Amino acid sequence: AARNPGQPEFHQAVDEVIESLWPFIQQHPKYAEQGLLDRLVEPERVLMFRVSWVDDHGDVQVNRGYRIQHSSAIGPYKGGIRFHPSVNLSILKFLAFEQTFKNALTTLPMGGGKGGSDFDPKGRSPGEVMRFCQAFVSELFRHIGSDTDVPAGDIGVGGREVGFMAGMMKKLSNRADCVFTGKGLSFGGSLIRPEATGYGTVYFAEEMLKQQGRSFEGLRVSVSGAGNVAQYAVEKAMALGAKVVTVSDSSGTILDEEGFTAEKLAELMEVKNHLYGRVSDYAGRVGATFLPGVRPWHIPVDVALPCATQNELDAGDARTLIDNGVICVAEGANMPSTADAVRLFEASQVLYAPGKASNAGGVATSGLEMSQNAMRLSWPREEVDARLHQIMVDIHETCLRYGRAADGKVSYVDGANIAGFVKVADAMLAQGVV
Ligand code: NDP
Repeated sequence: AARNPGQPEFHQAVDEVIESLWPFIQQHPKYAEQGLLDRLVEPERVLMFRVSWVDDHGDVQVNRGYRIQHSSAIGPYKGGIRFHPSVNLSILKFLAFEQTFKNALTTLPMGGGKGGSDFDPKGRSPGEVMRFCQAFVSELFRHIGSDTDVPAGDIGVGGREVGFMAGMMKKLSNRADCVFTGKGLSFGGSLIRPEATGYGTVYFAEEMLKQQGRSFEGLRVSVSGAGNVAQYAVEKAMALGAKVVTVSDSSGTILDEEGFTAEKLAELMEVKNHLYGRVSDYAGRVGATFLPGVRPWHIPVDVALPCATQNELDAGDARTLIDNGVICVAEGANMPSTADAVRLFEASQVLYAPGKASNAGGVATSGLEMSQNAMRLSWPREEVDARLHQIMVDIHETCLRYGRAADGKVSYVDGANIAGFVKVADAMLAQGVV
C-alpha cells in the first residue's frame, strides 16, 4: 500500500488474489522463491501520456491516456481500452492485474494489459470521437504491436472506436498486422467477437447451474448494464429459455416483468449502439418500467449477471440477493462485486463466479481473432462460437479442479486465482528474474 498510495481498486484486486493464493503457496513453497509475488504485483511497464485534440468548436481539449503493460510472461500484453471519465491509474492497474490471470485461464498465449483515458464519449459527435481516437493512438502506436501489445475494446470503446484506432495504427505503422481486436468484419474482425463476453458469461453460468442439475430454462435473470456485455448476456440467456427481467445503466434500471424478447433487445441495441441514448429512452419506446437511480439487485431473481462496471454490487445488494433466494451470480463485468459482497456470496450456498473466470470469453475470442488474422483467414460463426463454448467449459472445469476444498465445496474465486497464477508463475520461474 505504501508503494501505491491512492489506488484502492488495485489494492482490492491484489488482496483478493493473495488471499486465495496464500494457503496454496504455503503448500507449494517454490512459488515463494525468486521474488515471484513481488514481481507479479508490479506492472512490467506503465505508460501515461497527454492526449490533446480539437473539439467541434475549435477548442483544444486535453485528456490523459494510459497503457498498463502488466505481464508478458505467457504472451504479448493483451487487454482492452476504456474511455470513461472515471478512468485513473488505480482502475487500470486493477484491470491489467486481473487480465493477466484471466488470459492465463483461457489457455491461449496472451499476457495481461489494459489501457484507456478519462475521455468521456457521451455527448461527443462522431467526428470528435474519431479525432480523439486518432490523437490517442498517435502516442500509443509506438508502444504496441501484434507481438508486443494488442489492445481491444472495453467500456466506452466498441467497434466504432476500435475501427478508428486500428485505422490510425495502420497509417502510422504502414503495416496491416493485428494490433487491435474487436475490429469490424470488413477489416479483419472475427465473427462472434461482439457477442463473446456476454455469451461466454452465460455459457459459464450454464456450467455452474449444471452442478446443481439445473439449466437456464424457466429461470428469472437480472442483468446490469446495457452495453456490449449486457446485451449479449441477455440474448444468450433468453436463447437458453430464461426470462430476463432487468437491464440498467448509470441512470437507473429497467424492470420488465414480462421478460425481454428478441424485438425488445433489438430496440435496446438501437438505442444504445446507434443513438447512444439512455435506458430511459428505451423504456419509453417499449413501455417498460424505468426505476431512476437504482440498481437491479433488489429485484428477486434466480440468476444475477452483473455486466456494467466495478463495485456495482455491494454487501447490502449481496445480502438482498441471497435473502431473495438467488442461486447463481456470474460476473460479466470486471470486479463488479465489492470485497464484502464476494465474502457473503462465498460464505453462502450461492454459486458465485468472479469475472476473471466467467467473462474470459471476450478475450479468448480476441485470441481467436489474432489467430485468424495471422493465418489470413476467417472462421465461420459456428466454428468461433463452438470454440468459445469449449473454452468456457474448460475454464469451468479448471476452476473446479483448483477450487474444490477438502469438504467438497467449490470456490470459483480460489479456483480461478490459483489456476491463473500457476500458469503465469511457472512461466515466470522458467524465464528467470527479468
Ligand atoms: P459498454 O461501454 O458497452 O457498457 C457499459 C455499461 O455499464 C453501460 O450500460 C454503462 O452505462 C454502464 N456503466 C459504465 N460505467 C458505469 C458506472 N461508473 N456506473 C454505472 N454504470 C456504468 O462496456 P462493456 O459492456 O464492454 O463493459 C462492461 C463491463 O464488462 C466492464 O466491467 C468491462 O471491463 C467488462 N468486460 C468487457 C469485455 C468486452 O469484451 N467488452 C470483456 C470482459 C469484461 P452508461 O452508458 O450509463 O455509462
